Amino acid sequence: MTTSFDFFNYLNNELYCEDVKVKEIVGKVGTPAYIYSKNSILEHFIEIRNAFEDVSPLICFSVKSNSNLSICKVLADAGAGFDVVSGGELFRVLELGVSPDKIVFAGVGKTSEELKYALENDIFMFNVESPAELANIDRIAGGLNKMGRVALRINPDIDAKTHDKTTTGKKENKFGIDFDSAGKLIKDIGNYKNIDLKGIHVHLGSPIYSPDPYVQGLEKVYKFLHESLSDNERQRIEYINIGGGYCISYTGEKVKKPHDFSAEIIPVIKKLGCKVIMEPGRFVVGNSGILVTGVTYVKVATWGKKFIICDAAMNDLARPSLYDAFHRAWPVNTDVSMPEIELPEAEEGADRRMELVDIVGPVCESSDILAKERWFPDVKEGGLIAFFSAGAYGFTMSSSYNTRPRTCEILVDGDSFSTIRRRETYEDLIAGEKEFLDV
Ligand SMILES: *Cc1c(COP(=O)(O)O)cnc(C)c1O
Repeated sequence: MTTSFDFFNYLNNELYCEDVKVKEIVGKVGTPAYIYSKNSILEHFIEIRNAFEDVSPLICFSVKSNSNLSICKVLADAGAGFDVVSGGELFRVLELGVSPDKIVFAGVGKTSEELKYALENDIFMFNVESPAELANIDRIAGGLNKMGRVALRINPDIDAKTHDKTTTGKKENKFGIDFDSAGKLIKDIGNYKNIDLKGIHVHLGSPIYSPDPYVQGLEKVYKFLHESLSDNERQRIEYINIGGGYCISYTGEKVKKPHDFSAEIIPVIKKLGCKVIMEPGRFVVGNSGILVTGVTYVKVATWGKKFIICDAAMNDLARPSLYDAFHRAWPVNTDVSMPEIELPEAEEGADRRMELVDIVGPVCESSDILAKERWFPDVKEGGLIAFFSAGAYGFTMSSSYNTRPRTCEILVDGDSFSTIRRRETYEDLIAGEKEFLDV
């Protein structure tokens, strides 16, 4: 039985990541555990690079989607640059020895400390999100005797048709600068003595299931460049950064692939005539990772509801409680086939061995539900469940709420696996507080 997750497949009723049994891994490292496939990460990176090779983009992997050092290293070794959104993320990629001319920095609230840190390290470009930020970069760069290379992040007022909490390119969102303000900034750019204006940046949100919003956004940029700017001003726009947001399938349904996006987007890019930067995160790592949890208890209420209580919780995988995200779940060992497609609205399980269940964590919140109303095969206490599509915005969004140690992370490569982050200990969790007890 194959899943739609390429590098995670069932063979003889057992889930494998590449050539390793998931059960064997968690037998060694325990649960919960994030498990990633190195070859899936590489294959997805190459797929998106190939799709856009006509315009040879600098591909800056979005560090916030999965910031583990070993995973960033796999991508750095494959030639990726990096899109960071904080000083902490910048620190990570600099620690890896990534060349600063492959690092771009976005975010509405970059502090003076973060700007100074990035300028001192000569990063490639800031994606600037407000006139106030531009003035701040100019001031700090002046103090350091440097030039701040910038792209203006435009808010093109496009509805990317994604979840309210993950759309970023509508005018009511906090992100980016509207066209009129951007036009004024570009006209006045000579007043910013330590700013080198290099381009325009657009990122519309995530996940985006159609190329249309990208095309609409870039058409608006084209119109802006040609109607609001002089020839001289327009010539400064050497780069167009088209952001991230490329979708993955969470349900097993077919979704648009990088080639479907590039076929529509490349013609507009060519019309713009700029060099290209892109910032994929989810597409590269999303379906390259799973979260494996152990089943602690099974509880059946007299009114019929069955709860499967796991050792993973909302603090480990926040997306379901944060924005109703749907992650497929299935037992790691089962003789019931995982359906090829599973939609969020539960349909009656065709297989009589399935029951309607809620899969929940131990955290003291009613929203601590990882999978709600799913038709699910029988699992026993001590069993294992895999949550799929957990490679992006999984571990990076985890917390230690309820003083729960964060999970370990494991990277599989062919028939071998290694720990790439150890499980936190209780001591780790109180380390920053203990020294103050005696004060
Ligand atoms: C989060 C983010 C991305 C990555 O989005 P994905 O959906 O993971 O591809 C890219 N650019 C910016 C500015 C972001 O904030």
